[in-house]
Amino acid sequence: MTANLTTLTLNNGVEMPALGLGVFQTPPDETRTAVEAALDAGYRHVDTAAAYGNEREVGEAVHRSGIPRNEIFVETKIWISDYGYDQALHGFEKSAAKLGVEQIDLLILHQALPSDFDTTLEAYRALETLLADGKVRAIGVSNFMVDHLTMLLEKATVVPAVNQIEVHPYFQQRQVQAFGAERGILTQAWSPIGGITFYRDGNHGSTLQDPVIGGIAAAHGKSPAQVMLRWHLQQGRSAIPKSTKAHRIAENIDVFDFDLTADDLAAIDALDTGQRGGPEPTAITLASFGRPIPEA
Ligand code: NDP
Repeated sequence: MTANLTTLTLNNGVEMPALGLGVFQTPPDETRTAVEAALDAGYRHVDTAAAYGNEREVGEAVHRSGIPRNEIFVETKIWISDYGYDQALHGFEKSAAKLGVEQIDLLILHQALPSDFDTTLEAYRALETLLADGKVRAIGVSNFMVDHLTMLLEKATVVPAVNQIEVHPYFQQRQVQAFGAERGILTQAWSPIGGITFYRDGNHGSTLQDPVIGGIAAAHGKSPAQVMLRWHLQQGRSAIPKSTKAHRIAENIDVFDFDLTADDLAAIDALDTGQRGGPEPTAITLASFGRPIPEA
């Protein structure tokens, strides 16, 4: 029987739909239709970020859908330019106002700022305050490596519920995943179908054309994207695939009617190249990546 993998329970008991729609690089004028298509297709989780410039459109789609607010899990991220305690509290206010919500379901720090980790810690302390005040239902981080998590856990009073990191068959970060799992930090996969391996220039092949993934897909009568998403779900990860196209948005959530075998999972595990697609998390600085997040 196919396991029910639709929902994950975070370390504070909050339930999160395992699969969400990502909207990184979705232009604001296409965001509403993408989110509407996702909600129509059955998604109940959207992942945006202050830095994506489309929180307002995400919020509009959520409100116009008529679906009760508490049935849609809204996740967003504080950008590094808003780190520091007061700044991050204000970052929440900006995001909540743009989203048009009183409460954000999951608020995470977008990146560690290793060159100024104290402001990262202060921003996390702001998330803890927002959690205590009921302004957010869960808090977490993104792109935190083992060192960053270690330094954070030394100071934090709340263990992050989620660490959103690059995970796809070609880059799996198993050490970061295992470190998190031992401490109750759920791994959420960004670029879950390997988008970063094909939408940016570089020496990457495409996960979508990988012969191993293609073979597994053919055997199950599913697409390569569906196989990759099912791989995440069966290994206990959340995944937030992005598309602006209604048919792909629907395809990407049609992953609850089949099971990959242990051999399938192992074959995908074996595709890890160790080659990161996104920016090196230890090299993020305000000078290179900082930019102001507009007021609401
Ligand atoms: P994905 O792995 O989700 O891939 C997205 C790409 O795949 C797009 O080019 C999309 O094109 C295409 N695509 C989507 N579905 C299919 C399909 N079924 N078949 C073929 N092609 C498909 O990569 P992303 O990097 O976009 O990651 C997803 C989400 O993760 C982001 O939207 C964001 O929410 C989050 N993220 C977070 C980061 C962080 O630093 N925390 C960094 C990067 C992403 P099209 O739209 O044309 O369909």
